[in-house]
Amino acid sequence: MAMSFYPKEGGTLWSDYSTEVVIHALEVYSRFTFDYPYPTAQSVSVGFLGGMEYPMITFNGPRATLQEDGTRTYSLSEKRFLIRVIIHEIGHFFFPMIVNSDERQWTWMDEGLNSYLDAVAGREWDPNISWSVEPRHITGYMISEDQVPIMTQSDSLLQFGANAYGKPTAALNILRETIMGRELFDFAFKEYAQRWKFKRPTPADFFRTMEEASGVDLDWFWRGWFYTTDHVDISLDRVYEMRLDTEDPDIDFARLREASEAEPPSVFVERNREEGRRAWVERNPEVRDFHDEHDQYTVTNVERNRYRQFLAGLDASDRATLERAVEEDRNYYILEFSNRGGLAMPIILQVEYESGEKEEIRMPAEIWRRSPHGLKKLLVSARKIRGFAVDPMLEAADADIENNYYPRRIIPSRIESYTEPEGQGLATRDLMHNIKTELEGEEPAPE
Ligand SMILES: [Zn+2]
Repeated sequence: MAMSFYPKEGGTLWSDYSTEVVIHALEVYSRFTFDYPYPTAQSVSVGFLGGMEYPMITFNGPRATLQEDGTRTYSLSEKRFLIRVIIHEIGHFFFPMIVNSDERQWTWMDEGLNSYLDAVAGREWDPNISWSVEPRHITGYMISEDQVPIMTQSDSLLQFGANAYGKPTAALNILRETIMGRELFDFAFKEYAQRWKFKRPTPADFFRTMEEASGVDLDWFWRGWFYTTDHVDISLDRVYEMRLDTEDPDIDFARLREASEAEPPSVFVERNREEGRRAWVERNPEVRDFHDEHDQYTVTNVERNRYRQFLAGLDASDRATLERAVEEDRNYYILEFSNRGGLAMPIILQVEYESGEKEEIRMPAEIWRRSPHGLKKLLVSARKIRGFAVDPMLEAADADIENNYYPRRIIPSRIESYTEPEGQGLATRDLMHNIKTELEGEEPAPE
């Protein structure tokens, strides 16, 4: 039985939401773990921003605020806080009160697992509320100073909330959605919950059960996310577009000439011409020779004979392979990636064709196994490609997304037209002056 206890000051914030949220949390957590084994679940109003859990009973804030006309209301952030805190504290019934763990040693084993699931439940409660639990929300912490690994004894944690709640939430979310897939992850997570309910697992029990139940080697993942302070930053540094040489001089030389003509001429030669300066060879035509009449890309019989000999030297199958490749005339792209953050992650690559059509290619994290700092990937495409984007949907907590675009994009940003001076209420600063300062940096301090 789900129950709530609150005074009339709770207002509709409590009467409309509290018990409903208790039911929702029990349903979602049960689905991912085991059926809730106790008879009651309670949410008690405390009237301040916070929450605390005990077996079968939780204490949660805030309440509605009394208005001048006697009605009670609440802000979006108060609503968001109350719903999330009730889900979270009810979630603690499962972690760590049934799947018990030592939070004074490994805080993430209860707060992290519970925050991961409260984020799942929050999305299922109302997808239109921004719960700030997406992987993109942890990137600031992941590149911050003064960090310790998640697997640090709790008293020694720095940036406690981000370390023990936020980062494990992002890690497990990415493990589920981007690395293992929902089916495998959910099966393994449920196996962990069922195997260890009413027992007292340690981190190794969690890591081992997730691997055993899924059959996936995740040592590299635990090491990166739980034992280091590395972050995710995959950069697409360079892309080469290549075309297969046909070896036929009549085709290849014409292409070389085209490429050579596409190069800009020397501006200094242009200036000489503008000055009316005639070159020696122009003034003395008797020094002109064969090379002035035929450029280096003019095919001669020497090259044609060499090509015929080359074809004659191929066996029938090699010759057919070459002819097919030449006829298909595909586009070859070599992509150079580097891993600047240190964490091995899948490469989620969006390809945009010249038609504007887009396609997603996913490469598993194992692609980094033999060259963890940088790698090259060959793409062969019938269609010409206009650009690439790594992790376009921001699912992988990539800390610097600007090096994900090839070609690089212009970064969308904002100039504040209006800055409220501290403690002065409405702004009085001149708009253009403000924009100028934003662009040029801070003004010098007055002497
Ligand atoms: Zn908690």
